[in-house]
Amino acid sequence: MLRILVIEDSPINMVLMAAILEHAGHTMLKAETAGIGLEIARQHQPDLVLMDLQLPDIDGLAATRLLKADPKTRHIPVIALTAFAMQRDKDQTRAAGCDGYVAKPIRYKEFFAEVDRVLAESRPTVGKG
Ligand code: MN
Repeated sequence: MLRILVIEDSPINMVLMAAILEHAGHTMLKAETAGIGLEIARQHQPDLVLMDLQLPDIDGLAATRLLKADPKTRHIPVIALTAFAMQRDKDQTRAAGCDGYVAKPIRYKEFFAEVDRVLAESRPTVGKG
């Protein structure tokens, strides 16, 4: 079971994500803005952040850069959620520090395959400084 922070301003997408994550047995933390999401990430140290790219305050790429620049949150893997399934956007999410990328609408199997991949790659090595 994972504690997953979802930063997403669309109520419908939030409900869909809650259904997917809770069906899989995960606990979900919710934020409707990047500002709130970054604060929750610092305070609650989730296992994973799912980051919508289009948010009302600052966009998800800028929010990811802030999260990855903060020593308290930089270790938390981030998966970008975007409606724009284009290679250019995928490259931009990488450049901003996102660890993974999922196109909306979410497809269950692909989504969890990406979650598994990102968590496997981000797992800290024992003894790593
Ligand atoms: Mn949005």
